[in-house]
Amino acid sequence: MNYPPTSREVQETVDIVQRWGKVNFRDFPWRHPRRRWHGLIAEILLQRTRAENVIPVYRAFLTSFPTLKRYAEASVEEIEQIIWPLGLRWRAPLLAALGRRLYERGRVPKSIEELTSLPGVGPYVAAAWLSFHGGGRGVLIDANVVRWICRMIGRKYDGETRRKKWLIELADRLTPEENVKQFNYAVLDFTMTICIPGEPRCETCPVGPRLCTYGREKFQASASQPEV
Ligand code: SF4
Repeated sequence: MNYPPTSREVQETVDIVQRWGKVNFRDFPWRHPRRRWHGLIAEILLQRTRAENVIPVYRAFLTSFPTLKRYAEASVEEIEQIIWPLGLRWRAPLLAALGRRLYERGRVPKSIEELTSLPGVGPYVAAAWLSFHGGGRGVLIDANVVRWICRMIGRKYDGETRRKKWLIELADRLTPEENVKQFNYAVLDFTMTICIPGEPRCETCPVGPRLCTYGREKFQASASQPEV
């Protein structure tokens, strides 16, 4: 698709990703948490880490702190002991402060502004929590989403692209008003298994060369190769 894509192209892409997501949903323990704050812990632990590595740490965290009160009482050292396998000890003070703030408030807030005022909660974690656990509409923008969008419209990207106005607007257009939770889970799973870093799996991609510039160029390049 060209930039800016037509409304029809956007809708078609959303429909395709949602259909793909229903069939390819990846089940993780934090996708059906017993408490809303469990989901917030998971989103913080998942930052810059592999989901598979987070599973035992997430379980250990909830076992050690079965209630919000107990979590609020946790020391930085206790939290460090749990999250060290992820190599993210520097997050322990933030997680300890977050427990105290959540206990004071009694619940996880439901606006992006309030969420991002919590210790350790940035725009991505806030948007993810809101759409997955808060019943709201959060627009996910991380390195995976940037890569996917830029490939579709045939633009180069770098570490700064996620802050560009055009990228933020397009991510917003691609995020539906309804079924945001399902759509965002589908985008996470799609960008981790099909439109992956390095060499994307365009051959098995449901978006394909008609809607994706990168996919079309890859298809044309392979079609022009002489047969051996
Ligand atoms: S066709 Fe390839 S580059 Fe385009 S969205 Fe699919 S996997 Fe990503």
